[in-house]
Amino acid sequence: MNSLMNAKQYEESLRKLQLKVYLFGKRVENVVDNPIIRPSMNAVAATYELAHRPEYEDIMTTRSHLTGKKINRFTHIHQNRDDLVKKSKMGRLLGSQTACCFQRCVGMDAMNSLSITTHAIDARYGTEYYGRFLKYLEYVQENDLTCDGAMTDPKGDRSVAPSKQLDEDVFVHVVEERPDGIVVSGAKAHQTGAVNSHEIIVMPTLTMREEDRDYAISFALPSDTEGLTYILGRQSCDTRKLEGMTFDRGNLFYGGHEALVVFDKVFVPWERVFMYKEYDFTTQLVENFAAYHRQSYACKVGVGDVLIGATQTIAEYNGAHRASHIKDKIVEMNHLNETLFCGCIACAAEGHREPSGTYLVDVLLANVHKQNVTRFPYELARLAQDVAGGLLVTLPSAADFDSPEVGRWVKKYYRTRADIPTEHRARILRLIENITMGTAAVGYLTESMHGAGSPQAQRIMISRLINMKHKQKIAKELCGIEKGDQIG
Ligand code: SF4
Ligand code: FE
Repeated sequence: MNSLMNAKQYEESLRKLQLKVYLFGKRVENVVDNPIIRPSMNAVAATYELAHRPEYEDIMTTRSHLTGKKINRFTHIHQNRDDLVKKSKMGRLLGSQTACCFQRCVGMDAMNSLSITTHAIDARYGTEYYGRFLKYLEYVQENDLTCDGAMTDPKGDRSVAPSKQLDEDVFVHVVEERPDGIVVSGAKAHQTGAVNSHEIIVMPTLTMREEDRDYAISFALPSDTEGLTYILGRQSCDTRKLEGMTFDRGNLFYGGHEALVVFDKVFVPWERVFMYKEYDFTTQLVENFAAYHRQSYACKVGVGDVLIGATQTIAEYNGAHRASHIKDKIVEMNHLNETLFCGCIACAAEGHREPSGTYLVDVLLANVHKQNVTRFPYELARLAQDVAGGLLVTLPSAADFDSPEVGRWVKKYYRTRADIPTEHRARILRLIENITMGTAAVGYLTESMHGAGSPQAQRIMISRLINMKHKQKIAKELCGIEKGDQIG
């Protein structure tokens, strides 16, 4: 028995959603076929498609701990360290297949963190959130749904608490309590894959205090619930997707997207509320989600694989690949990329069991990994641009290659080796451009910086989690400050 959708079924399931989506100031009537959005749908579809490929079965699928059925790993609650390690490998695999953000990790990370926190709230307050959450999880697993994990509020003035903001809606909050549920207003910003999702799982964005209780809420909604509006973010070079399937797109098939999601007095039934004013559990939920999502940045290792492959290829096309400094730069790219892989594997391998039974990554190592992610992809991109050369940004368009007037000049003067068509050189350059400064740079660079928390957030966690007293103690012992001159 399994409940796996395939890519086609996923696409058809999205067609049934009645989402209110805006792009370039206009309502998008057909979201699935919109040329700007569709590559991001393709990327999520890859998470469904790969689950049906025998060679990836072990990475992409597992058994539900609730039903015993075969499920997509993106809907799984990690039951052991092996699950966590496979999650990291799944991220690298999909990053390398799509060379962009494939969006489905946030929902998985939201569900895993909620599985811990709903259990913990029940243990302290005798509430019934965990049972509700498991029912919801089973629904997600049975239907193989994609969930948007919505944490980041617009936040308004950063120096002011949620309840003291000029506009109370800059953090999602309860506006009405009813016998059958709650009504919420506010917005979530930078929502990865929002319009490719069946569900939206909302969590608080930071630690809430007692005066911010109305903001300490978590719940899930179908993505086409009345009152939800999606406003898509622009990406550098996005309108190239309107030019058809020319090589100027760089990545012909895949992309990502982010959106501002507005909640305008949206009703949530009680059975879908997983935290309600328990402000004392917001820190745990936010930190665990952040740790899981910082691990998820295994995806950037996969995109790095593509970038390294493209860089080696352009070096060969240019006839520069035997130069020692080029070889060394590519070794450096691999060194950085594999160092990233070490981090996401390490935090998984050092994971532990929480009281709910869910396995959580090592939080310190997950933060160290993400801190590396805020830096290394930028260095990989710099090296790729160094090796690629200036043509990366001066290359004429695909239309010029096809032009009866100038096509022959472009092909003649940008030819390198006899065995390499000039167009192949252009294609690989456009892919590097796409990853390092085009639409995919949203995911590979700026999202590496700010996604799952900006660099400073990880530094704060690192400083809190490091056992400095122990480090000082061993240092002091070894030089005789603590135990004098006696060994042992
Ligand atoms: Fe997943 Fe990476 Fe996209 Fe985050 S940035 S949703 S971890 S693919
Ligand atoms: Fe992200």
